[in-house]
Amino acid sequence: MEYFTLNNGVKIPQIGFGTFQIPEYAAAKRAVSEALEVGYRMIDTAAAYMNERAVGDAIRESGLKREEVFVTSKIWVQDIGYESTKKAIDRSLAELGFDYLDLMLLHQPMNDYYGGWRALEEAYRAGKLRAIGMANCYPHVIADLCLSVEIPPMLNQVEIHPFFQQQKNLDTMREFGVLPQAWGSFAEGKFGIFTHPVLTEIGKKYGKSAAQVSLRWSLQRGACVIPKSVHQERMRQNLDVFDFSLADEDMKKIAPLDRGRSEIVDHFSPEFVKMLHGLKLHD
Ligand code: NAP
Repeated sequence: MEYFTLNNGVKIPQIGFGTFQIPEYAAAKRAVSEALEVGYRMIDTAAAYMNERAVGDAIRESGLKREEVFVTSKIWVQDIGYESTKKAIDRSLAELGFDYLDLMLLHQPMNDYYGGWRALEEAYRAGKLRAIGMANCYPHVIADLCLSVEIPPMLNQVEIHPFFQQQKNLDTMREFGVLPQAWGSFAEGKFGIFTHPVLTEIGKKYGKSAAQVSLRWSLQRGACVIPKSVHQERMRQNLDVFDFSLADEDMKKIAPLDRGRSEIVDHFSPEFVKMLHGLKLHD
């Protein structure tokens, strides 16, 4: 496994395993167990994915030591605020069955996220969280947060794939020492990404699939990746991206695929914001 280093010195695997859209206990536990078996050492979960318990159980039953697996979770919008985030951190730890997390993120820069951030800072200082970060921050949001808080975020998990490249966001994160982490490295399967002619053609040169080219492209832009699959063969394929390197000319061929905006989520739409606020995990 290769690693990036966060701005507080904590090492983070360059590739991890995503667990979105696997809410059912047995399926989530099986997927995480199989991912650990093929060699993943970072698991990305969230309170909103409803699978923290399965993730914790799979890690405990894997035979690996707790410190061998980097675990990330996220505080849902409903719980973002100083008091509610404090409680939500403890709820996530209890669900996972751990006494610390490697990384905790605020899932969206929504609700009282400055209050929520202070709660993350406190838990970080108390040793409950080895690193803290944000998700879904656009460049102006991450810049403002970094300039306003005592402990700037170590990581920002945002949608990045060849069809939404977010160069400005990557540049801003680099300026503020925030590590980018890509969610949706495969655009959740949109744009025919797995058979896309440009990515497939590039892949042929290296004996790799379009999926592997997409992951490698993100890594070479300095973003770690957390691909999700419930199929072990794909898990293995997605992990196998460290024995080749895309040439500059191939990186340049991917650049024009950028559409400059997300077609998966629309953070600028009040309807989308209302939908996220409407998703309640508890009373
Ligand atoms: P993704 O990783 O872009 O795509 C997952 C899809 O690709 C699944 O349908 C999977 O199908 C398929 N797939 C995976 N590997 C493949 C391969 N080698 N060949 C063909 N198909 C393949 O989407 P994602 O799950 O949304 O994003 C990854 C992770 O990022 C999530 O699981 C979650 O942990 C995180 N995330 C975070 C946020 C956020 O707001 N912070 C938002 C979304 C996601 P199968 O499972 O059937 O193989």
